[in-house]
Amino acid sequence: MDPVPVTPSSPGVSARMSRQARKDTSVEMAVRRLLHAAGMRYRLQWRVPDLPRRTIDIAFPGAKVAIFLDGCFWHGCPEHATHPKANAEWWRQKLDGNMTRDLETTEHLTAAGWTVLRFWEHEAPAEVATRIAATLTAERGGRTAADPPNRQS
Ligand SMILES: [Zn+2]
Repeated sequence: MDPVPVTPSSPGVSARMSRQARKDTSVEMAVRRLLHAAGMRYRLQWRVPDLPRRTIDIAFPGAKVAIFLDGCFWHGCPEHATHPKANAEWWRQKLDGNMTRDLETTEHLTAAGWTVLRFWEHEAPAEVATRIAATLTAERGGRTAADPPNRQS
């Protein structure tokens, strides 16, 4: 068995954890507002089909488009990921585990015919919303030869 995880000790890490653990991050709220204003209707925390305990942050089940807004710290953003020095090994495994799960979820959904878009929380909400809208338009309009090959089948 792996050693029992220890709780993070430093106040800095604890504060960051509670901030990052919040579901409704400000970027997600901003993106949701933009989507809603543009007339797009979505579902929140939609359960990933056939994959227990995983949810899609913003889902368009009809179009089978899944949006994930990944926190820079928890999901290992290449620009902002930091590795806490206290309990470094536990954190490394924890964060690696998150990234492995992300990849697994993406692959699972893609295999089930979903289009998966992942964004970092540091990305501009307007840009994120624009890319989501473009993807939905492409999905609803049906695929043409001009569509990017974003699906292996
Ligand atoms: Zn980042």
